[in-house]
This record gives sequence, structure tokens and C-alpha cells, in this order.
Amino acid sequence: MRRLLVLVLLLGPMLILAACASTGHRAGRVGTAYTPRSPGYGWSGACDQPSNARQAARINAASIDSLPVSPFGRTEIGWRTYAALTAQEVGVRCSPDTAGFAEALGRWKSAHGLAYDGTMDDKALSLLKGAWQEKRPFLMGRVRREPCPPPPPIEALEQIKPSESHYGKPILVRPEVLAAYRAMAAAARRDLPEITADPMLMTIFSGYRSPEYDAAMCATNGGCNGVARAGSCSAHRTGAALDIVLGNAPGARVDTASDANRRYLSQTRLYQWLVWNAPRYGFVNYPFEPWHWEYVAAAAYSTTSPQPARRTAR
Ligand SMILES: [Zn+2]
Repeated sequence: MRRLLVLVLLLGPMLILAACASTGHRAGRVGTAYTPRSPGYGWSGACDQPSNARQAARINAASIDSLPVSPFGRTEIGWRTYAALTAQEVGVRCSPDTAGFAEALGRWKSAHGLAYDGTMDDKALSLLKGAWQEKRPFLMGRVRREPCPPPPPIEALEQIKPSESHYGKPILVRPEVLAAYRAMAAAARRDLPEITADPMLMTIFSGYRSPEYDAAMCATNGGCNGVARAGSCSAHRTGAALDIVLGNAPGARVDTASDANRRYLSQTRLYQWLVWNAPRYGFVNYPFEPWHWEYVAAAAYSTTSPQPARRTAR
């Protein structure tokens, strides 16, 4: 509990540290809206059974789109963007307006020193954020003020296939990250027919980015958000961070960081699927950016340079 609180305090000012700097890609097609309680990836089970958490469920149903919260430093209205991650963290596949969700959230809050009441609030969300961010070795290195991990040698990276890339853009990633991504994408494709219907979904729109590239993008378009404040130390320099196309809200790009687009993306079936399944493939989400997933193998975040890997013949 104390560790989590310390983490929350440390992470407070680190807004948008992973910051997927604007990469100039075009908007993809609009993704499929998420239908609550469909089986297999998101909400399911007996979530509305008689429970003393019904009152908390009613409060959550009202607050999810109206409560001002600021887990990442800027005020957002409502916590729907974080509902899927919350359900996964507290271990329940229930819609956020149900007694089942409130019960599980109450248990989690109680275990972390908060009131056992099942309602979401800014304090609970801050603690949840600490739990999510703690899963990111890259970020933990920044919190511990370790040196920024050096980028891998270019020859240690592998080029993704055009069919795996957003509009066929050339993208490099670490070979072990690409293997994990491919296994995950195949599983997602099996579970979610909309990916077959829209092959742009689940493609990668950013992988490895050199520190020089990120610095230049920051200087050119000012779209670097926290990258500049973080000393241009983006997780994308490791070759282990992927920005994955989940769709986009009407008029938004796949990486538009507006609250409306982030909320939209968080409600797609693909995002819901990733929240529950990506950890099995070694990926964790940066919660402020639904599209940003980091492969959490320790080697990718070492502060010493990795050895060049043998290139895979293609
Ligand atoms: Zn990213």
C-alpha cells in the first residue's frame, strides 16, 4: 500500500511520459463500437445478482460519464476510458455499472487502504493508475531516475511486414516483440471478426523511433507532449513499444489524444480484448493512450546496449 502511494506521488507529474509523438500518419477507418457484456473478451457472468453493492453500482453508473477525475494531470470528465483496465485489475468481467463490478472494486479499494464502498473516485483511480504504471519497467526506470535506456543497434531490429503496418509504413521493432505481437494478433483475429473485416485494425502505426527522430518531431510540430519534459526519453526508443490501430473516433486520427478519442478507443472490442489478453503475450498498456502497448521483457529496458541479434531471413 505504502509503495503504491509513493508511486502515485512520483507519477503524478509525469504526464504522458510514453507520449506517442505525432507521427503524421493518416486516420484509419472508424472502429467497431463496443457492445457491453458480449462474451469472450469483456463483460460477462452474473454481474447483477442481488448484492449489497447495488447502491455503489448506481453511483458508478452516474459518475462514469460525469465525475471530474485527473489521473494523468489534466481533468477529464468521467472514468469510462479506464473502466476496462479497472475491471481487469480488480479481477471481474462485469460492466462498470453493475453490482459485480462495484463489489470487486470495493474489495480492491479495501485491500489498498481505501473505503470498502465500491464506488470509483479520483483517489481510487490514482491508486489504480499506480498499479497499472508499475507494470511498465520503462516507466519505473524513469521513476528511479535511472539513465534513459540506449536505443538498440538498428541491425538488432526487424522490419514488420507491410500487411502488419498502418498504410504499409516501414517500421522496425525488436524481433522478440514482433514474435509476441504476431501471436497476439493471430489470437485477436480468431476472436474478433471485425479485424478480418477491417485489416487496418490491429496493425502497427509506430514501433522503434530513434531519439533523434523523436527530438526532431518535438522541435518541428510541438506534438511531443511529455517527451520534451522527460528529456526526449520515449519508450519507443527501446524498440519494444508498439502503437496499435484500434480505430478512431469520427474526425480523429488513430493517435489523437483528445478525451473523446481516447474514450472511444477504450470502448472498442479490440481494446477490451487487449486489456484482458495482451498480458498473456507480454504486453501492457499505457492507460492514457489506449493504442500504446509495451512489451515488458526486462532486456528491452536495460540501461546498457543490447548485442545485435542475427537478422531473420525473410
Ligand atoms: Zn506509443
